[in-house]
Amino acid sequence: MPSSKDTFRLLVPRIKSSKLQLNSKFIDQNYNNSFNKLKQIENYVYHTDCRFEYILKYFGDNKEFKCGKCDNCLKMSESLSLDAVQFVNESILKAICHFKDGVSPVHIFTIMMGTSKSDIYQKLPFFGICASFKYSHIKSVFNQLLNNGYIYENKSKAKRIFVTNKGYASLIELRLITGEDESTPSDPDTDLELYFKLKNLREKIALKFTQPPYLICEDPVLVLLARLKPKTREEFLEVEGTNERMFNKIGEDVLSVINSVTIVSDEVKKKKIVIPSHLYPVYQMLKEGKTYKEIASTKNQSETTISMQIEEILGIDIALDVEPIITKERFRQIYHRYKEGFVELKDLKTKLGENFSYPEIRIFLARFKHSDSNVGKGGKLY
Ligand SMILES: [Zn+2]
Repeated sequence: MPSSKDTFRLLVPRIKSSKLQLNSKFIDQNYNNSFNKLKQIENYVYHTDCRFEYILKYFGDNKEFKCGKCDNCLKMSESLSLDAVQFVNESILKAICHFKDGVSPVHIFTIMMGTSKSDIYQKLPFFGICASFKYSHIKSVFNQLLNNGYIYENKSKAKRIFVTNKGYASLIELRLITGEDESTPSDPDTDLELYFKLKNLREKIALKFTQPPYLICEDPVLVLLARLKPKTREEFLEVEGTNERMFNKIGEDVLSVINSVTIVSDEVKKKKIVIPSHLYPVYQMLKEGKTYKEIASTKNQSETTISMQIEEILGIDIALDVEPIITKERFRQIYHRYKEGFVELKDLKTKLGENFSYPEIRIFLARFKHSDSNVGKGGKLY
């Protein structure tokens, strides 16, 4: 039919419909392919996990990855309190530090969550330390540590994870204390004390030489010295970042500080109160002066659970300062009722009313019980 507009022109003669053979398989494939692509875009919109990881998967990279920056990743860490994120953060660093030869990410997660079946892992002081957190939370904090250079993956060592010097320095700065564990290659407790002593020493030496402290010895080297504790000039010079010039300025003093700290720490260890690993995080927070409400929020556990752990701790450290958990005035009020003969948890609660919570009364009772039977043995009531 003639027309003024251009339509189309057949370049090959038209095939009669009776002889036409369509490749239905090809058409189906094409259709499905396009449909799948559309579906993937739709899924991306409703995706609740890391979006970056989703895109990587789309392009065939099936590695697990949490960017820590997309809306979903942010939402995931948002639902945890800042304290809780910090807690997971420290726990992961501490755990990885323990493994001198590195550790695979999978093992770290099963250790953190307390799901590993390995006997060796189950004996670790931090086994199950993050059991009250979701896997996705731990994973997301882990990736942030990785992305921010606190830990690194050693590709030549079967992709094991190690703590970087930056990570170790942050552990020390966070004033971490580990539980009793002889096999720990380095003890952040001693290291921390030593680190600050070395820092003080460096200030003095800097004044003496009228040089800025970093010229005497840079922070990362100071961290390494606190961690490796060289005992001789030779050992000192083996520490990465040191040199003869540095030794001549500060070396002898560093060695004598290291000697004094390590002797004292061995003595303290003998007298140390041994807190079981599952109670250690709570114990540490108590020592930092946190209330049981704060600890519950940090550990993502109920106040009841926390108060029961505090109850156990008070049986071990009978002289622990309880003021942050329960004020003197409130302690006195409960004590008053106790003296009237209301010695059971439930009776006390009924008598004291809404103003006092079960966790609080439980903590009072624990303190009372353990200090009463230990008068003269270091136990104290308040
Ligand atoms: Zn993400």
